Amino acid sequence: MKNEELWDNFLDVLSSKLNGISFNTWFKDSKLVSISDNNIVIEIGNQYKKNYIKDYYTDLIEEVLETVTNGNYTFELVTEEDLKKEKDTQPEELDLVDNNELPKFKDTVSNLNQKYTFENFIVGDSNRFAQTVALSVAEQPGKLYNPLFIYGKSGLGKTHLMHAIGNFIKETSNKSVLYVRSEEFINDFTQINRKGEDNLDLIQHFKDKYRNIDVLIIDDIQLFRTASQSQIEFFNTFNSLHDKGKQIVISSDSSPDDMKYLEDRLKTRFAWGLQANIMPPDYELKVNILKNKMLGTEVSTLIKPEVLDYIANNCENDVRHLEGIVNRLLILTSMYLPKEINLEFAQENLKDYFGSSLYITNSVAKVQKAVAEYFNLTVENLKSKKRTADINNARQIAMYICKMTTEETIERIGLEFNRNHATVIHACDKIEDEMKNNDNLKSQIIEIKAKINN
Ligand code: ADP
Ligand code: MG
Repeated sequence: MKNEELWDNFLDVLSSKLNGISFNTWFKDSKLVSISDNNIVIEIGNQYKKNYIKDYYTDLIEEVLETVTNGNYTFELVTEEDLKKEKDTQPEELDLVDNNELPKFKDTVSNLNQKYTFENFIVGDSNRFAQTVALSVAEQPGKLYNPLFIYGKSGLGKTHLMHAIGNFIKETSNKSVLYVRSEEFINDFTQINRKGEDNLDLIQHFKDKYRNIDVLIIDDIQLFRTASQSQIEFFNTFNSLHDKGKQIVISSDSSPDDMKYLEDRLKTRFAWGLQANIMPPDYELKVNILKNKMLGTEVSTLIKPEVLDYIANNCENDVRHLEGIVNRLLILTSMYLPKEINLEFAQENLKDYFGSSLYITNSVAKVQKAVAEYFNLTVENLKSKKRTADINNARQIAMYICKMTTEETIERIGLEFNRNHATVIHACDKIEDEMKNNDNLKSQIIEIKAKINN
């Protein structure tokens, strides 16, 4: 029996033994990694799921394996992260170099992860520009923006978009694509460097891998920080590809201008193309992503809208964190079988997940206290739903001062006033506007600021 056949049978039998919800929740995105020595390695979507499956479905998996193989198969669950780690710690390539043999550069493999596509990338204000230009590049590689430089903080979707570009190109053309993380480039280059310039075979392999392609996608180039030799080599690779009209897509955690360690000539090259920033998701995008990641699961039918609101207001500003929360909800739901996922259930079970240090030390509280005292109100007044003119006015001034004097995001400020980010923006615009013609307001704000700084 071929491996794929065995795997298909396995999934068939497994799904017949589980109800649809459980199967979709736990096994829908599982993949066959390998079968050897009667051991089957299965990739599971993430660590939570992996642990859960291990705890609750081991017996079932063994039973199903027995049914489809008639033999003694063992199984192993891994996540994408596990596979990456394994790859990173394998020393064989270096050993090969020491033995005077060629390292195994995987020159024909794209390294693309098919789970990241444009279809499942949710778009909002914070990532719309990056998504649009990424799609344009995928449609016309080498023609429009070259290089495309995507930057933004961790967990905001850079890697997802880069794979989406690669997958799209593979699907719609015959072009060869290589996705690499910068570590891999640095590792490959370091091997050559160790051997010295006289090892022509090694150099040729390196060049084949990186220059004999139509699209190079290189992720996280901030890792070049400590690898100046590799930077120079990347410069050469870049020129070679760019001269031939080959598309280059680069990502980093900050803009080229903020990468002090980056060679000026690389900065110049990067400026030839287009730079797209991905910002942290706003409230609306967070809710959309939450809904989307729950789609088709039981959680989506049980969850109350206010819970989505609660999560979107309290979570960290990155998508990875959102995914973690959804996974947690999936697990909780299958464990406790709640009739509905209401605020109480969510607060009880997700509280720890949001971390306790979030609101304790921020200075929004300080501003609120100063403003409340100044206007003879209480902090509770400011945070309440009350909309009397005096409270409303004080609240708007407080929001404005928070925006001007604290490090907090608009969303976070809103949260501290039990309001959404749109309300904060409106308040700040309004105060800013009024200050232009209202000297009294101006001096009030100056006095309050002075109070805060005391
Ligand atoms: P980065 O590379 O910027 O650190 P990733 O691309 O690894 O971030 O994204 C982290 C996780 O969040 C991934 O699982 C990714 O699929 C998911 N993700 C990020 N942005 C989005 C989005 N807009 N829509 C759907 N999933 C997203
Ligand atoms: Mg990434």
